[in-house]
Amino acid sequence: MADRYLQFSRTAPGRFLTRRLGLPQPAELHRWSAERPALEGALLHLTAGVSRLGGSLGEVLARTGLEVRAAADRPAAVVLDATGVADVETLAEVHTALHPVARSVAESGRVVVLGAPLDPADHHQAAVQQGLEGFVRSLGKEMGRGRTVSLVRIATEVEARAGADAAESTLRFLLSPKSAFVSGQVIEVGGGEVTVPEDWERPLAGRTALVTGAARGIGEAVAETLARDGARVVCLDIPAAQSDLERVADRLGGSALPLDITTDDAGERIAAALPDGLDVLIHNAGITRDRKLANMPAEQWSSVLDVNLASVLRTTDSLLKSGALRRGGRIVATASIAGIAGNVGQTNYAASKAGIVGLVRALAPRAAAEHGVTVNAVAPGFIETRMTAAVPLFIREAGRRMNSLGQGGLPVDVAETTAWFASPGSGGVNGQVVRVCGQSLLGA
Ligand code: NAD
Repeated sequence: MADRYLQFSRTAPGRFLTRRLGLPQPAELHRWSAERPALEGALLHLTAGVSRLGGSLGEVLARTGLEVRAAADRPAAVVLDATGVADVETLAEVHTALHPVARSVAESGRVVVLGAPLDPADHHQAAVQQGLEGFVRSLGKEMGRGRTVSLVRIATEVEARAGADAAESTLRFLLSPKSAFVSGQVIEVGGGEVTVPEDWERPLAGRTALVTGAARGIGEAVAETLARDGARVVCLDIPAAQSDLERVADRLGGSALPLDITTDDAGERIAAALPDGLDVLIHNAGITRDRKLANMPAEQWSSVLDVNLASVLRTTDSLLKSGALRRGGRIVATASIAGIAGNVGQTNYAASKAGIVGLVRALAPRAAAEHGVTVNAVAPGFIETRMTAAVPLFIREAGRRMNSLGQGGLPVDVAETTAWFASPGSGGVNGQVVRVCGQSLLGA
């Protein structure tokens, strides 16, 4: 179901009317394309307090391909290093640095604030570093015009030099059009093992990725994006979707694996279909069976929990245990803002998606220690797919407009975030749940 309001608001009469009536004016987001792969303009590098990252940050920023400057009229991106902010006085330097430039950031531009983890032994430092979270989330709501704001916390256990290096894949993602629909997020980068890709354009070259629910929607976009990044993709979906699945797999030069993911031995069957193992496991398949709890039969509860959570737990356990998911591997599961905020008629769905968040948080440190594998989740907000086209009109309109960017996301937005998690360069990104929701007001 096309977003007619978005289309109308971009016509001349639409612009006039929406402005006169004070209605949202969603900007046209700059998403990645081969023709326009980078943000357009300079990158402004600012610091508040004394950086804990030393010179390494400047080197990493220079590698993003953007022209790094200490002053710029209309920067495409601003990176504020606030890692050294440890008291209220130095927090004021965040205001000093960003106040003069907030208005001048280009359309679809980025503000990325770098912070430090909260120090439990220093409640002043913890207070102001937590303060950055409120700051970033508020600025994200103020910026408008397709501009996004995020906070990246860089772990202290990482040495000064490795600090910015460990964050390179994350900075490259946030400072590119690939993160167009990601705003108001707090991302932690830790000291996990990073493999610097030989070619940042094709970081998944030589790797095999399995995507569940790949016959359409978000899963299809994920498969396509991972293939663009060099992966050999294996597309899995239910046997009933086999023809669509084969069409997607053929187009991407990958292979199709028709299999219901709720089958008891799905993990073993995946391992058997991939005798050389796999590097990237994307749990995307999901279903909704909405009804208020009072009206919900047990079957509607269990079918949703089975596809969205139980099968994710089962196949993850099986593929980790058998070693089919190789060292350096990546697991990305799919949560939802419904799992964070809750939603009428979705007790089953929200339980399953909140379950994904719990799974990610608990398994991430263990999977890294025992298997060298990271575990993260994307939590999509309102994304334009068949799943959301079935949502009643009024709720659909609210879903599209109730976020800082005033529009729904596209499947590719979730796919780009998934691809960033899947990169060998993202070894320091583990146990994270990143919302791809244009900073939705739900669960904010
Ligand atoms: P979709 O319904 O368009 O596609 C889901 C795919 O999963 C389908 O191809 C379906 O056949 C497949 N699938 C379902 N059950 C399966 C099973 N048992 N085994 C194998 N494959 C199975 O949905 P979508 O909108 O692309 O959503 C993809 C994921 O993103 C889901 O996990 C969904 O919950 C999540 N999500 C979507 C949105 C959104 O706005 N669209 C928001 C939040 C979360």
